[in-house]
Amino acid sequence: MVELEDVSKVYGDVAALRGASMTIRYGELAGIVGPSGSGKSTMLNMMGTLDRPSGGTVRIAGHDVSALTDRQLSALRANVIGFVFQQFHLAAGVSALDNVADGLLYTGPPLRERRERAAEALERVGLGHRLGHRPHELSGGERQRVAIARAVVADPPLLLADEPTGNLDSRSGAGVMELLRELNAAGTTVVIITHDRDIAARLPRQVEMLDGRVAEGARL
Ligand code: ADP
Repeated sequence: MVELEDVSKVYGDVAALRGASMTIRYGELAGIVGPSGSGKSTMLNMMGTLDRPSGGTVRIAGHDVSALTDRQLSALRANVIGFVFQQFHLAAGVSALDNVADGLLYTGPPLRERRERAAEALERVGLGHRLGHRPHELSGGERQRVAIARAVVADPPLLLADEPTGNLDSRSGAGVMELLRELNAAGTTVVIITHDRDIAARLPRQVEMLDGRVAEGARL
């Protein structure tokens, strides 16, 4: 699903990644762990094709990212990758239903179908009873569920989550982790960035980052 080969990323005079190599197989549930500044977010930007590497190769679902135009990259992101962020990134004042329906804007079915699929996705994350609620009317855990519904409404094979429980109390966080596990069990490849060792320890695989590299032993 994801292959990074000797990937480097330089920002000015800072090397955020220095020869990181890693493979995530189809169907995996993996955590990316490591201290602050070790390159986890940069790694996520590479996997999510949000940024291009300074060197090395990134392949997503077999596509070499460096060979794709910006337009093709957008299409890859829309069809293959769902994103979940620590800060939820929901549109304020917009219902849960329409926040999720917007996850289908790029792939373009008509509004009615977008809303039908959004309602299904919200059912799937346990929020079928909150379709009309706006973000400020939802708890933190519920907001993250809406964000997850938006990330999976287009049925992407890969879900990337950056500190998805970072803004949640432990109980809501556990619920969100359980939901990510269920999505993985249903076939989605899930990669979770976390600095929380307890969360990482409960995942089937941990990829350890240190100083811009994948630490030996975690590499496949
Ligand atoms: P982590 O997510 O593990 O905390 P990051 O990938 O955010 O680590 O950062 C790795 C290193 O790269 C850090 O030293 C950070 O300051 C630097 N860095 C990340 N993004 C940028 C950027 N856009 N510009 C300059 N330096 C950056």
